Amino acid sequence: MTYKGLPAPIVCDYLSREDSRKFYEEGTEFQIAKIEMVANTGTYLDCPFHRFENGKDLSEVLLDRLVDLEGILVRVDYRKTTAITIDHFKNKDLRNKAVLVNTGWDIHWNTDHYYTHHPFLTKEAAEYLKDKGAKLVGIDSHNIDDTSGKSRPVHTTLLRAEILIVEHLCNLSSLPEEGFTFSAVPPKFKGVGTFPVRAFAVIGDQ
Ligand SMILES: [Zn+2]
Repeated sequence: MTYKGLPAPIVCDYLSREDSRKFYEEGTEFQIAKIEMVANTGTYLDCPFHRFENGKDLSEVLLDRLVDLEGILVRVDYRKTTAITIDHFKNKDLRNKAVLVNTGWDIHWNTDHYYTHHPFLTKEAAEYLKDKGAKLVGIDSHNIDDTSGKSRPVHTTLLRAEILIVEHLCNLSSLPEEGFTFSAVPPKFKGVGTFPVRAFAVIGDQ
């Protein structure tokens, strides 16, 4: 389960190896899996359609927004503060970059603690990232917005500007602050605004 209140995925056989054997010659078998899940499962990408009816959906986001993005890592230890502000991004070159915020909160993944008092960006920080031309913003937290109220200004600000969001990242602590590329590619679904990604960085010269 990724998000409290949303169901956990169901991953099972549609066709098991055992049941497949009757279709093939001796020694040949396959498995076909069946997955039932909400789109907000695991580490996922949000595109504008998640927030805006007329925003770009997964099928409309081009690969140049998702693949081999020049990355910059910003470390903000959640034990010091959970509100990530403009000050944490000041004097950094953010233009056209994947800006990844490493809070360390992923240590609580798969525990009840993960869902409450998690680190988030402030509205002003989101506006700053938009003004500085960030291409994508990722965080190793439950939600990039403060979920204590009913507004979600970071989603609103970033997705309106077509800046993609990746949430529930993990292992960001193993990245350097610069000198890496970041990729996070979902499948090309129409009418879907969020989907799990295999998010990864490549460190060093390409
Ligand atoms: Zn989100």
